[in-house]
Amino acid sequence: MNPRNRKQTVVTVFDGRTHHVALCRGERDGLPVFGWGEAPSTLLTRSQLRAVELRPNGQDPVALLVFRHHRPYARETVAELFSIERAAAYRPPTSAQRAALARAMEARRVCVDCTRVQEYCVPTSTRQCWACFELEQIDRPGVAA
Ligand SMILES: [Zn+2]
Repeated sequence: MNPRNRKQTVVTVFDGRTHHVALCRGERDGLPVFGWGEAPSTLLTRSQLRAVELRPNGQDPVALLVFRHHRPYARETVAELFSIERAAAYRPPTSAQRAALARAMEARRVCVDCTRVQEYCVPTSTRQCWACFELEQIDRPGVAA
């Protein structure tokens, strides 16, 4: 059977603010099933919510997104769809998380040669500040033209 000709069912999906009338591909676990690109635009998967810095906020999924990967094995993937209306912004980081982040950021600004904390992140390839990098280039004969 050609999957494009599969029977579609009309459902009403409530996203917390609006009732959407949509065509779905039936139900699974009591939830309407949508194909890729068929779900109402206010329903997003966990990773889609995360991409816009939202989280499901404890809500139950309102629908399912079922799609197949093109490669390598056309594996079927089922993702829960959540209402963007009921989603919440990520909690602001705690002071401990902020401190850990600040330490991680500072570590990226420390030059391995002069051990000074720079105003910028040092390149991950050399981990040197620009001054030390340039000094090394001068010391290394044959590099400069
Ligand atoms: Zn340096």
